[in-house]
Amino acid sequence: MTLPPAQAGRPAPDKPIPTEMWAAVYRGKDTVGIERVPVPAIKGGEILVKVGVCGVCPTDIKKIRHGTVEPPRIFGHETAGTVVRMGALVRGFRIGQRVALHHHVPCLKCHYCQHRSFAQCAQYRKTGVTGGFEPSGGVYAEYVRVLPFALPGAVKVPAQNSLLEAAMLEPVNTVLKAVRRLELRPGDRVAVVGQGPIGLLFTRILRLSKVSVVAADLVPRRLALSKKLGAALTVQSGDVLLQAAQSATRGRGFDAVVLAVSSDAMVVKAQDLVRGGGKILLFSHTLKGGAIGVDPGKICVDEKALIGSYSSDFTLQREVARLVFSRALDVRVLVTDLFPLQRIMEAIGLAETPTEASLKVMVEVSTTNGIWS
Ligand SMILES: [Zn+2]
Ligand SMILES: [Zn+2]
Repeated sequence: MTLPPAQAGRPAPDKPIPTEMWAAVYRGKDTVGIERVPVPAIKGGEILVKVGVCGVCPTDIKKIRHGTVEPPRIFGHETAGTVVRMGALVRGFRIGQRVALHHHVPCLKCHYCQHRSFAQCAQYRKTGVTGGFEPSGGVYAEYVRVLPFALPGAVKVPAQNSLLEAAMLEPVNTVLKAVRRLELRPGDRVAVVGQGPIGLLFTRILRLSKVSVVAADLVPRRLALSKKLGAALTVQSGDVLLQAAQSATRGRGFDAVVLAVSSDAMVVKAQDLVRGGGKILLFSHTLKGGAIGVDPGKICVDEKALIGSYSSDFTLQREVARLVFSRALDVRVLVTDLFPLQRIMEAIGLAETPTEASLKVMVEVSTTNGIWS
């Protein structure tokens, strides 16, 4: 459905925007309630987006479960929706346009950005897409305000793609960024430990980069999908990875090991799986304060690098959009569950303790056109 053109600053005539909306508000450790909050007011350089869907992200779940941030706030950041109001200074968008949003956008000028350490940039750390309780608001709300610095992170969604696909741009970006950090060559062999939604994205993106993947997970159903997405070999437990490393690489070891699970034991084990000069990438260890007994000699003498990757890379946005929207990376197979906003705690529970069949869990924030198609 194409909405009629509307003047900037005004809602589309058939879609009156209310003054209040529903939002999932974090009120402290383990407590998220559905509340009525004001629809955010926008300034001249901002847009208001009616949120269609928002992915449930493990980093948000950890913050909710461990109470690591101050309440109140709204979480959620993997999102896509429809532009419903525009400030007078905004150019390049129109009312009714469907967009995927990035809540973190770097300044591209500071010392960190010049070193491509975008996730460390002061601007990047600010949340640029908010449903309220600023400066840290998120997207589990019916309407969100996109701040001027986050507008370059808004990606237009082609007519043939769904909002569910568009909401996957942000997590796909974080995975592509991590893959780039591995500096692999075609023909390299990589183990991906954990085949949840993120691990499966690694498998597919590595495969598209002509890298041979050994995928490990405890759930056979996930491994079947790993195969479909291009894994050369699947193993059902981390214990047999050492054998796989030997057989798949003629004893040399993997060029890289990606840990898409936050297992400390696997970090230690990965030091034996990776070849000399290879890389171990931590993707899921998003809580600080831990300690792991790694062998420093393997890092120094064997040059086995222990690296991390966090959040997205703004400069990869176009490539990510092309991958997802062309369906070379078809994210639709990863989205298994869609909950209404009112049932967000169930959505979080399922994402936290997945069933054999569940992968990416999403929240349908408002019933709007184009979620599925
Ligand atoms: Zn996320
Ligand atoms: Zn910067």
